[in-house]
Amino acid sequence: MGTVRALWLERGRLDVRDIPIPDPPPGEALIRVLGAGICNTDIELTRGYYPFAGIPGHEFVGVVERGSERLNGRRVVGEINAVCGSCAACAAGRRSHCERRTVLGIVGRHGAFAEYLALPVDNLHPVPDSVSTDAAAFTEPLAAALEIQQQLAVGPRDRVLVVGDGKLGQLVAQTLALTGCRLVVTGRHDAKLRLLAARGIDARRDGAVEQGAFDIAVECTGNPDGFGIAQRALRARGTLVLKSTYAGALTLDASAIVVNELTLIGSRCGPFAPALALLADGRVSVEALIHARYPLERAVAAFEHAQQPGILKVLIEVAE
Ligand SMILES: [Zn+2]
Ligand SMILES: [Zn+2]
Repeated sequence: MGTVRALWLERGRLDVRDIPIPDPPPGEALIRVLGAGICNTDIELTRGYYPFAGIPGHEFVGVVERGSERLNGRRVVGEINAVCGSCAACAAGRRSHCERRTVLGIVGRHGAFAEYLALPVDNLHPVPDSVSTDAAAFTEPLAAALEIQQQLAVGPRDRVLVVGDGKLGQLVAQTLALTGCRLVVTGRHDAKLRLLAARGIDARRDGAVEQGAFDIAVECTGNPDGFGIAQRALRARGTLVLKSTYAGALTLDASAIVVNELTLIGSRCGPFAPALALLADGRVSVEALIHARYPLERAVAAFEHAQQPGILKVLIEVAE
């Protein structure tokens, strides 16, 4: 049996090593990874967000090597929740909440920072020819950004605040801007705010926004300051969407939530098909978010780079 190179995470430590090539069970495909993006969730995993040991990485693009006649030889991206299909959540159509799910590179399943990965064929989406491999690596986080619009109707009359100008905040802002809503983004980094402003988005520093004025606030920072800014910006009966991974417990002003009758919405994985359609149409711009690229052999350095302040997406390039 052959071996492949992979980035391995165990007890907070990363190293690149040889592992046996994955042997997908029936219903799963073997995928040769082309590239994968480092997400904040991956960084949180190295800090113990989940007790995960194995290969991290869930934002990938690859080529199907075997397992699907329809997709063999094609570039694909993949939904990250591998589901059982038979539990109560699956039966009710809440497949991303399957009670027995594994999650690519996050829960019970090796991820994408490796030469090969295995994923159920049902999770795979072919990448349109007009979408570059670099852009395709953004499908998963872009889908996560679009999940907000699955959960909430957002339209031109809505005043919407996005808190955070990082990787996720950028995608959330770009997708919300397409709804025509009255959008403001607040963040801490001039260069990142300029990227948004260049797309015609009202981008402001350090929470300089009117309080009690927004219908919807989307928290994309994962820190308590961001939560506070989002909460104070909302009008009574406004909706606060939590889009970040929180590494620890969050202290919140529960009485302000009660008194103002705020609605809290947790938001995680989203739909891939509309994300790919946005990339194919060029209605969102993701390549400007790539700040660095590293080969798989230097994945540990890539993780260090991704954690530096002001850095947006770091891609690990696995194969041509
Ligand atoms: Zn992610
Ligand atoms: Zn299930």
